[in-house]
Amino acid sequence: MIWNEARECMSRDQMTDLQGKHLVKLVGYMYRNVGYYRKKMKKLGLEPGDIHGMEDLGKLPFTTSEDLQDTYPNGMFAVPTSKLVRYGTLDSVSGAELIVGYTQNDLNLWSECMARTFAMAGLNKNDVIQIAYEPENWAEGLGLLSGVEKLGATAIPVPADQKKDLMSSIRKFHMTGIIGTPSYLMYLARMIEKKGMSGGVLKAAVCGGAFWTDKTRKKLQDAIGIKMYDIYGMDELMGLGVAGECRCQKGMHVQEDYFIAEILDTETQTAVADGMLGEIVFTTLQKQGVPLIRFRTMNITRINHEKCECGRTSARIDRICARTEDIVYIRGNSILLYSIENALTELREIKASYIVTIKKQHGLDVVEVCIESKRLQELLQSDNGESVKHRVEAVVGKIIGMKPKVYIHEGQMTRLYNRRKVTIIDERRF
Ligand SMILES: [Zn+2]
Repeated sequence: MIWNEARECMSRDQMTDLQGKHLVKLVGYMYRNVGYYRKKMKKLGLEPGDIHGMEDLGKLPFTTSEDLQDTYPNGMFAVPTSKLVRYGTLDSVSGAELIVGYTQNDLNLWSECMARTFAMAGLNKNDVIQIAYEPENWAEGLGLLSGVEKLGATAIPVPADQKKDLMSSIRKFHMTGIIGTPSYLMYLARMIEKKGMSGGVLKAAVCGGAFWTDKTRKKLQDAIGIKMYDIYGMDELMGLGVAGECRCQKGMHVQEDYFIAEILDTETQTAVADGMLGEIVFTTLQKQGVPLIRFRTMNITRINHEKCECGRTSARIDRICARTEDIVYIRGNSILLYSIENALTELREIKASYIVTIKKQHGLDVVEVCIESKRLQELLQSDNGESVKHRVEAVVGKIIGMKPKVYIHEGQMTRLYNRRKVTIIDERRF
């Protein structure tokens, strides 16, 4: 079931038009009500009249986590306390506490996003859904609860640390859905696998805060016999429900009438093409309490604007795979540093340490891999190390999409930078 077909299935042109209209309103609203953001705009010589639609989004200044800290506790609030109905606290990226505030309209928006997300997972008003909220994050649980209620389903809120009651709850309430973390679902999978228990009439699970791989998810799905759906959100933006996954499980649909999602090159802060990795930056289009324009999430993902097989046209984002410091661009390709690191670490037969250097030569990006090994003589013995070099060249080349220059360090072991097995240095940043 598509919860809000008019919004979730509109054409790309209609959506861009709608977003543009909301953006124009939002910029005026922020300029009038948030002095900090007004100053940022003035610094760039921008006035609300300069923003006519989505085509002008790139002109607007970013909002960062530091901005939220600098204006703590309420410098980014756009309404007085009398208009707020709820406060929330959250930990920023740097660990500092931040305060957010919601108007009634903000809470309504949240429950709408949640209801859409649950409907994407195939849940409806006939379902009995357990919300296993993390006790330290119970405010998030309130958002989830409001979504289940909006859906018209029956909610069973429980703290996630009371796992032992899970199996009896499944039987007692004829639970058909679970909203919880992957570790909570792992517990259920263990019970079913090892103790021969049954998942009853369970049909779907929605997993928040899921840093898992597709392989792990598949294993859990097979063990429990249900589908598990990703959900994305950040407390700064609203909470969970900014994006959610449909039955196709090919990315999470962004609630685009409420949030503009941009994917930007982490170095140039310009838009990257669909399918390319970059930092996801959000603008909250209709929030009133603490609206954010171009909020830098530091999260890395990719976006796809193609229509989904489920019928929805809203853009889909992949599960967050890294943070901004984990990505580099080499000759226009986005590369995750850990993918180079993992590939080299897996070459166990070589028993070496590596220094990977990314640099510019004659205006072109080049990559050099230096192999350091205690078995230096052994490596050089038979064919002057050529077979080892070829192996490393192939493994790294596959990831970066070009041939790296590989050499074996023949001097004294340097271990210049640290004791890591793989050290990556991007000289272009110096
Ligand atoms: Zn879909």
